[in-house]
Amino acid sequence: MTAAVSISAPPAFPLAQRMSRMKASAVREILKVAERPDVLSFAGGLPAPELFPVEAIAQAHAEVFAQEGRAALQYSTTEGYGPLREWIASHLGERGLHVAADQVLITNGSQQGIDLVAKVMLDPGDVVLVENPSYLAALQTFSGYEVSFSVVGSDDDGMRVDELERFVTAGRKPKLIYLVPNFQNPKGTTLSLERRHALVRFAQRHRILILEDNPYGELRFRGEHLPSLASLDTEGVVVNLGTFSKTLAPGLRIGWAVGPREIIRALTVVKQSTDLHTATVAQRATARLLSRFDYNAHLDQLRAVYGERCLAMIGSLERHMPAGTRWTQPDGGMFIWVELPRGMSADTLFPLALEKRVAFVPGSPFFASEPRTEFMRLNYSNRPPELLEEGMRRLGAVIASQQ
Ligand code: PMP
Repeated sequence: MTAAVSISAPPAFPLAQRMSRMKASAVREILKVAERPDVLSFAGGLPAPELFPVEAIAQAHAEVFAQEGRAALQYSTTEGYGPLREWIASHLGERGLHVAADQVLITNGSQQGIDLVAKVMLDPGDVVLVENPSYLAALQTFSGYEVSFSVVGSDDDGMRVDELERFVTAGRKPKLIYLVPNFQNPKGTTLSLERRHALVRFAQRHRILILEDNPYGELRFRGEHLPSLASLDTEGVVVNLGTFSKTLAPGLRIGWAVGPREIIRALTVVKQSTDLHTATVAQRATARLLSRFDYNAHLDQLRAVYGERCLAMIGSLERHMPAGTRWTQPDGGMFIWVELPRGMSADTLFPLALEKRVAFVPGSPFFASEPRTEFMRLNYSNRPPELLEEGMRRLGAVIASQQ
């Protein structure tokens, strides 16, 4: 499902070697088609826009311009706006991750955190260990640094940490372990507590940096909060990425990286040459918003709505999917991972589904090794229950027609 970036032939200029490894995102291409207004799309990883706190964000921006306009429009430090870093450090502390504000680097979304860590850590030929399947845009980022992947399988409890030891072979020792421990993209599954401990011990034993990407952790709608890998680590082997994209709004483009000071320093140097700093206006407005907005009440509302939508989608899947179809049971986040009945390919199904005005993301691009075609990713956060029901009815009929 991935296509190499197409360049006009003959190219006006020869592109860098690494471009031969950079793939145009199949998902972006799919989203373009799925955006047709008559299509019920479950393809995008989109938060519910009706829950964006638009008024509060607008007011915070208005106040920034009225009260600190000149400072907000000036260049600022690469590390990020002090009060925002402090708020994030204190908020993470409430979640059991105790860091000082100077260990927080504000990034342009957590996507930039992934890129900065890759740039700081990875040389061509290095090995990155990822769960399989894994977040597609992280795979793309790593590919741009000309690395190779070791892929470890996952089950309903997340990455198969018990298999890791066999990946530490001579010449193939990973330089970085990348994973999404909470409500993973694309599977929706969560790494168990036991595996969290085992993974941190493994990384400490072998001195391998873990990149813990946690955009969905706050969106738990059932079960107990699990400690972050970073909070279990006492030896500085974890960089933890967070973001306001799924809790406030992705358009703000504000995320953060926290971790050992020397890594944060290196990330800061690299960010300086990448974009100097994250937009000052957005940082100041977000800090202002958080200083008086009831963020926890807002999170409770998101959790309630997403929990309801997840259960609604599962109910609709139970009603409409033919026998032999299976799916994950997320406790939070935005995605369900569906396994099609034996022998069926989501890649083949996609155009047929589109004809019936329903869309999903075929699972194949999420695999860092051999693509597997029998899976699809469904997003439930972006549609109310009645449209989830109608969408699953259409999708179930398409799948049944192929049996
Ligand atoms: N990591 C994961 C696992 C994601 O799903 C996403 C968003 N799709 C990101 C990182 C990037 O999020 P942002 O840059 O908006 O914070």
